[in-house]
Amino acid sequence: MNDKNFRNGDAKSDAFGTNAMLQPAPVEKIPDGPTLPEVAYQMVKDETFAQTQPRLNLATFVTTYMDDYATKLMNESISINYIDETEYPRVAVMCQKCINIMANLWNTPETNKWKAGALAIGSSEACMLGAIAAWKRWIERRKKAGKPYDKPNFVISTGYQVVWEKFATLWNIEMRQVPLSLEHTTLDVDQAVKMCDENTICVVAIEGVTWTGLNDDVEALDAALDKYNAATGNEVCIHVDAATGGFILPFLFPEKKWDFRLKWVLSISTSGHKFGLVYPGLGWVIWKDKKYLPADMAFTVDYLGAEVTQVGLNYSRPAAQILGQYYQFIRLGFEGYKNVQYNSLEVAKYLHSQLALMPEFVNYADDVPNPIVTWLMKPEVQKTAKWTLYDLQDKLMQHGWMVPAYAMPANIQDMVLMRVLCKQGFSRDMCDQLLNDIKSAVAELNALEYPTPTRIAMEKNTPLVAKTFNHNGRQASK
Ligand SMILES: *Cc1c(COP(=O)(O)O)cnc(C)c1O
Repeated sequence: MNDKNFRNGDAKSDAFGTNAMLQPAPVEKIPDGPTLPEVAYQMVKDETFAQTQPRLNLATFVTTYMDDYATKLMNESISINYIDETEYPRVAVMCQKCINIMANLWNTPETNKWKAGALAIGSSEACMLGAIAAWKRWIERRKKAGKPYDKPNFVISTGYQVVWEKFATLWNIEMRQVPLSLEHTTLDVDQAVKMCDENTICVVAIEGVTWTGLNDDVEALDAALDKYNAATGNEVCIHVDAATGGFILPFLFPEKKWDFRLKWVLSISTSGHKFGLVYPGLGWVIWKDKKYLPADMAFTVDYLGAEVTQVGLNYSRPAAQILGQYYQFIRLGFEGYKNVQYNSLEVAKYLHSQLALMPEFVNYADDVPNPIVTWLMKPEVQKTAKWTLYDLQDKLMQHGWMVPAYAMPANIQDMVLMRVLCKQGFSRDMCDQLLNDIKSAVAELNALEYPTPTRIAMEKNTPLVAKTFNHNGRQASK
């Protein structure tokens, strides 16, 4: 019908009706001119639209759900640069309050009101800061004793997260690796102590080993190092990489000693954006006492009556995560965190128990100390199956689930594991849906007439063509 009032040019096109939407998105050069904001928005939004929904990403450790108030607070503080402490001293003080709360959750003995610790962008930076401090303390001791300090090393299990390899390479520090094995599914304490010498800056214990979800026995390590140090006169300390456990243990296993209650634990790091329940990127590192944080690593300034310490490797960064963390502390309190972590662990235990009932699978461990479930194919099933866990990973991806399959580190590299992170937002109901999808995928795979390419590759021991995830949930082509 002819609309008499229609005047050409009045009606603006819908975003999808514009010429701009017919153009390819820029790849190499900045476009010549501007684009309407609604069109630009749509183009950018659509480019990531086909990705998994974060809440179906069971590969990541990182928080994928926060409530509306937290999200609002974080969006509202997106324009605040944390580093501008003079302009935003209240953010700096809030950060220091979070450091105090973390230190007390980990049973710090420090009596100073403002605890020694630092904000980081994640556990990677936090681990790095803890280890650098240990290195500098060791250099100090060696200098005082008139001994060389050019060959530092540290000891860690092969279950380490990739940041430790970076630490070793970037700062030229030898990484002595204690292999994981079928008998020693976490750090073998005797072996670790045997690897120590006068040049060892620290032993790193992991609470929530990224590959398996298990915890190193820090209490046993502490006792063994105490004996070792007494016998040798060395002062080998412990840094606990508690990326996951730092926010699980205090709430669910408060009686377990893994933290500053132990003599040689001098620093602990965690990810605020993992079970700290904050969107990325946020990490924390705390020292047992100010005296373990080398003075030349830190600037301390007084703001509004608080001692604020700046230690990070980064300069500018958003303040939003600090507001997010402080909000979660106030919103949830100890009880609330405990409830959330309890539910995550219960869902993990439920998944663990259901997988154990499936004839194809066996859980990697009997224990579920963290909300992380890892399993593998039963060796006798693997002998005859026409598929691998990489095929199951692909099948689940078709339902939107990201469940990574990956090979274990050297020594047990033939072992392929699958892992699910049971985070806040992965409910019992979603877990049942996942289990249903696993069961129907397995039924389809079992009915295959011919082996899959990954199965053939495994047979021939040739490199897999399948997309694989590394142990931190990052996808890599192998
Ligand atoms: C995730 C993880 C890291 C790295 O943490 P980010 O927060 O991603 O920087 C380090 N160590 C362990 C044990 C981890 O699980």
